[in-house]
Amino acid sequence: MKAAFPALALLRAAGFAWPENARLAIGTPRARVVGLFMRLWDAPPAAVTLGRTVFVPEAAYFARLGPAGQAALLAHEAVHIRQWQQLGAWGFLWRYVREYFRTRREGVGTHDPRRGIDLEREALAVERDVRAALETGKAGEILV
Ligand SMILES: [Zn+2]
Repeated sequence: MKAAFPALALLRAAGFAWPENARLAIGTPRARVVGLFMRLWDAPPAAVTLGRTVFVPEAAYFARLGPAGQAALLAHEAVHIRQWQQLGAWGFLWRYVREYFRTRREGVGTHDPRRGIDLEREALAVERDVRAALETGKAGEILV
């Protein structure tokens, strides 16, 4: 990704390991299609990671986050990229969908941070750490 991207520059300066092979699709036609598909499935997401591509359907939403908010969001999605690499596509999707439906059966809102999807809990924890580190200037201590 381009070093000129302020959010990625923030992450890098903070010592955060942004995956070198990651791709960002922000507001592209394909990202909007992914967003529409997810809207059918659930509430519209801020971003969706498929493999090593992070799709952000709404470019205007992303712009409004500002560099620190973008960095926190991208850190969250970087965790999903690693999860995809570790579990493989089917392993990731199977586990995600299985935990999603279990969570729904238990009546937990899917956008509640306490939801029962382990893959999301891990990503949300890193997102929180990055957000806190950027606020306190201790970002160099984050390990992914
Ligand atoms: Zn997530």
